Amino acid sequence: KRHKQPSTEDLISGILQGDITALSRAITLIESKNPSHFEKANALIKGCLPHANKSVRIGITGVPGVGKSTFIESFGLLATSLGKQVAVLAVDPSSSVSRGSILGDKTRMEALVKEPKAFIRPSASGESLGGVARKTRETIILCEAAGFDTIIIETVGVGQSETAVHSMVDFFLLLKLAGAGDELQGIKRGIMEMADLIAINKADGDNLKQAKVAKVEFNRALHLYPKKSSGWQPKVMLCSALKNEGIQDIWEQIQDYVSLTYKTAYFNKKRSEQNKFWLIQTIEEHLKSNFFNDKEIKVALEKQLQLIEENKTTPFAAADYLLRFKV
Ligand code: GDP
Repeated sequence: KRHKQPSTEDLISGILQGDITALSRAITLIESKNPSHFEKANALIKGCLPHANKSVRIGITGVPGVGKSTFIESFGLLATSLGKQVAVLAVDPSSSVSRGSILGDKTRMEALVKEPKAFIRPSASGESLGGVARKTRETIILCEAAGFDTIIIETVGVGQSETAVHSMVDFFLLLKLAGAGDELQGIKRGIMEMADLIAINKADGDNLKQAKVAKVEFNRALHLYPKKSSGWQPKVMLCSALKNEGIQDIWEQIQDYVSLTYKTAYFNKKRSEQNKFWLIQTIEEHLKSNFFNDKEIKVALEKQLQLIEENKTTPFAAADYLLRFKV
C-alpha cells in the first residue's frame, strides 16, 4: 500500500509538534541524493530554522573501542532523567549502506533507544565527509525544531571527521583510554587542542590506577596549550561509562561551560562563526561538485591529465584552461 507523501508544511508542523515520524521522514529527505528532493529539503530546513538553536550541541570523539556508545548511553540516560530531550547523531563518512553504519547504531544503545525522550539516528552514508557533515548539520536543525535540547554528535577518532564535528558543536568531548605507558603517544595534537574536556574512560577495576596516571599526564599536556578564546580551561576527568561513574561530573562540567560562555556571549559568537564557516563550506562544496560533474569539463579534464602525463602542459596552465569553462 502506497502512502501519500506528506507535504512540506505537514512535515514542518509535525516536527514542531515533536512528531518523531515526521522528523525521521524529514531527515530521510535531507539525506536523499535524489535531486527532486533538494528543494523540499531546503524548504524543511528553512521552516525549522527559526525554531532551532535552543540547545546544547555536544561532540563526542574517541578511537573505536574507547566506549563512545556505552558513554552516550549512560550520559543520554542521565540527561533524560533530568528532563532533557536527547538526540544522538553521528558523522561517520566511512559507513556505507552495505556495511551498515558503525556509529549511532541503535543496537549499541539498548536502553537509550527505548527511552521516549531520546532519538538516535545513524550517520548519513555513502557520501564524502563534506556531504555527511552537511547532512548532520542540517539534521541538528530539524532535531532542535522538534524540541531536542541536548544534541550529541558522535564521531570516530580517525581522519578529518573530528574537525567537521568540532565545527558544528558547542562543546567537544574527547574520550581517551589509559594506554600502556606512553600516554601521549599517538594523540593527534590538533584533537587535544580542540577538546573542551578529556574524559579517560574505563577508569574502573584494574584500570583505575593507570587511568589516574594518565590523568596527570594529560593535564600536564593540556596546560602547554595557549588559553582558549572561550576563556574555558579544559579539564581531564576520569569516568567509567560501563559502571556509570563520573558521568554526572562530566555533565556538570558541560553545564558550567554553557553558563560561562553564555555570560561572556562566546556561546552565540561561536555559533555565528560556525554558521559563516558553513556558508563558505557549502558554497565550496557546491562549486566543486558542479565543476567536477560537468560533462564537458570531465572530458576536458581527462585530456589535460593526459597532457600532463606527457609533459606537454603544466598543472597551472591546465587548471587555468579548465577554470575558463562555463559551469
Ligand atoms: P565505541 O567503539 O567507542 O563505541 O566503544 P563501545 O561503547 O562499543 O565499547 C567498547 C567495549 O568497551 C565494550 O565491550 C564495552 O562494554 C567496553 N566499555 C565501554 N565503557 C567501559 C568502561 O567504562 N569500563 C569498562 N571496563 N569497559 C567499558
